[in-house]
Amino acid sequence: MPERSVLSALSDALAGGSVQVVDLTARLSAETPIIQLPPEFGQTARFELEEISRYDDRGPAWYWNNFRSGEHTGTHFDAPNHWVTGRDGDDVASVPVEHLIRPAVVLDFSAECADDADFLLEVDHIKAWEKEHGSLPDGGWMLYRTGWDARSDSQERFINANETGPHTPGMSIECARWVAEESPVIGVGVETVGTDAGAAHSFEPPFPCHSYLMGSGKYGLTQLQNLASLPPTGALLVVGPLPIVTGSGAPARTVALVER
Ligand code: MN
Repeated sequence: MPERSVLSALSDALAGGSVQVVDLTARLSAETPIIQLPPEFGQTARFELEEISRYDDRGPAWYWNNFRSGEHTGTHFDAPNHWVTGRDGDDVASVPVEHLIRPAVVLDFSAECADDADFLLEVDHIKAWEKEHGSLPDGGWMLYRTGWDARSDSQERFINANETGPHTPGMSIECARWVAEESPVIGVGVETVGTDAGAAHSFEPPFPCHSYLMGSGKYGLTQLQNLASLPPTGALLVVGPLPIVTGSGAPARTVALVER
């Protein structure tokens, strides 16, 4: 008997249900929440469909659409060139495909974020998590659960802004620097509209997650859903950003393989 290959074992596990596929992707529509920057800056577009034909005079046997979307609309991937600190880094089409299938761990701070919409993850939180679950994965993703996916059907609740600006959880400046420059992960995934906290426009540097991650050639992954269905360790993340040539990011169908 020849030894069974790793891929045929995986295929059998998927067919048999001992490995399950969890969809972490927000559905794309005109209602998908988008980030809103202060009015002096350019704004990203909502997702829009434009019908070309639907079994009618414009195309009797076929239905299809054009679409318009921001690169950073819905569940999406931030490439290094998204930020000025990474301007000479990879565009989204140049990200090595080997980087798109990587292990992921989930740090669950949804209870803290339920009490404090401005909750900031600190290095000490990550170190305490590592004591319990082991080191962050080398070349893998750190997924930061905040419970924010429960708000993703409402632009208003998702952005959670008042007169002082948006209030959504994120990371402290030092934590962002540490994850980017000292931790072994390839990127950070979040449930919020961006990797940075809602209040991070006022941090120094502004938007430290973007500044440090992109400056270190690392990636962001945002507006993830269903992180509650993943174990703290052991998931394998498959991320599929559109390979937009020169693009700064792209909507990304993202799924996790999980052993049951
Ligand atoms: Mn982005």
